[in-house]
Amino acid sequence: MTDTKPTILWYRRDLRLSDHAALTAACKRGGPVIAVFIHDDLSDGLGAAPKWRLGLGVEELAKTLEEKGSRLILRRGAALDVLRDLVSETGAGAVYWSRLYDPDSIARDTAVKEALKSDGIEAKSFGGHLMFEPWTVETGSGGFYKVFTPFWNNVKSRDVDAPLPTPAQIPAPDTWPQSDKLDDWHMGAAMNRGADVVRRFVRLGETAAQARLGHFIAHIVQDYKALRDIPGEDGTSNLSENLALGEISPHQCWHAGQRARHEGKQGAETFLKELVWREFAYHLMHHTPRILTDNWREDWDAFPWQDDARASEVWAWKKGRTGIPFVDAAMRELYVTGRMHNRGRMIVASYLTKHLMTHWRIGLEWFNDCLIDWDPASNAMGWQWSAGSGPDATPYFRVFNPVTQLDKFDKNRQYASRWIAEGRASPHADALAFFDAMPRHWGLSPDDAYPDPVVPVDQGRHRALDAYENRDF
Ligand code: FAD
Repeated sequence: MTDTKPTILWYRRDLRLSDHAALTAACKRGGPVIAVFIHDDLSDGLGAAPKWRLGLGVEELAKTLEEKGSRLILRRGAALDVLRDLVSETGAGAVYWSRLYDPDSIARDTAVKEALKSDGIEAKSFGGHLMFEPWTVETGSGGFYKVFTPFWNNVKSRDVDAPLPTPAQIPAPDTWPQSDKLDDWHMGAAMNRGADVVRRFVRLGETAAQARLGHFIAHIVQDYKALRDIPGEDGTSNLSENLALGEISPHQCWHAGQRARHEGKQGAETFLKELVWREFAYHLMHHTPRILTDNWREDWDAFPWQDDARASEVWAWKKGRTGIPFVDAAMRELYVTGRMHNRGRMIVASYLTKHLMTHWRIGLEWFNDCLIDWDPASNAMGWQWSAGSGPDATPYFRVFNPVTQLDKFDKNRQYASRWIAEGRASPHADALAFFDAMPRHWGLSPDDAYPDPVVPVDQGRHRALDAYENRDF
């Protein structure tokens, strides 16, 4: 028997209509579906770029729902209070949402679920953000995985749920509850420094994400294995910002990748593996949430990291003025596009934590503030992997040389010249865009001389290795 009381669908980081288990279930339940986005302390506490990007995503989702004859109700406040208000205003019988996995969301959602249930409301969470729930992947002895390859071997042949279609209809209530205006939330306030510049690089919403996946599978995945390391090429899916906000589901990417693999497209398996790196990051965050804040390997607590975020070397790193072209190009790509090529992320993280011997947390926090594809699990795993303090991490003594890396992965300097203006007669438009994206008070100009290295590559390497060799852990 269907229940005709409304279902509240609580949107968070699942900003799509297709392959949405909670939406599908809400539509099946029978009554009207009232979709809501709640701007609470967790969304308000996001860094500048992720918060701004979330606001854009919410706006786009609202439009998509309206095209379907539905709406997105916007409310601000503590999630439980808002949901209780909505239940009493609409007479809803159920609240559905897609599961999240970071400790703060888990704490909030657990409390919400218990409270709603005690009010007699059906409160239910669904999968969708991940293909493999973290607790369903176990080692032979029943523990969790700390190394990627066995994790991959465990999951690679599993059946992944086929993506669900977009519901043909989303039943609407006779009257809609009142909604806030998104503009009143000022989710882009901290991005005043250059939102217009970054906006040009955003791939917004479900339709755009699906189109990019189609293009990637048709034209790029074949060569992905080789191209994914070349930051000057359009050689990766570029879907991380959409995956981070659930504008596309990992299942949709996985099944597209599997089809490409069956068609014999060579890079498809590598693409599937990368999707599983994302799952691995969530697996680690679920089992060891301290990966977000503390050295995953506790013996690293004794390492003499430099941990002053205001140090001049750290500022040079943030501003893309270290004098090391690969590092500076990548840091400016971050500031202008809100994203950074994976090789760039590895290089800048290695340079900060090893050559500059700066705590990875300082880099992680800068990424938290600047990335539009910010993902709590992947960011923390990436930083701890780079620093050497994480699970399955690159060993500390393996220090990326950003000069030889540039020779190897940016032979014709396509990437460096796209992002660095100083010293060039006719700089690339994107290199110049950096000066529009940065805050005025940084006081940089494309006419400045390109700086000498703040820490020369060999000197930094030796300093880091000495500290590592003389460590007392
Ligand atoms: P593709 O190469 O097309 O890969 C497809 C998808 O697989 C990606 O969209 C992503 O969801 C996943 N993926 C690929 N590589 C990784 C990886 N190493 N770890 C986890 N998932 C991966 N990724 C984020 O999405 N958000 C972050 O905040 C983030 N921070 C990072 C910080 C550091 C220091 C490092 C080294 C890596 C970080 N990554 C992060 C991982 C990776 O750099 C990006 O996922 C990737 O560059 C996104 O580009 P793409 O979508 O074109 O990836």
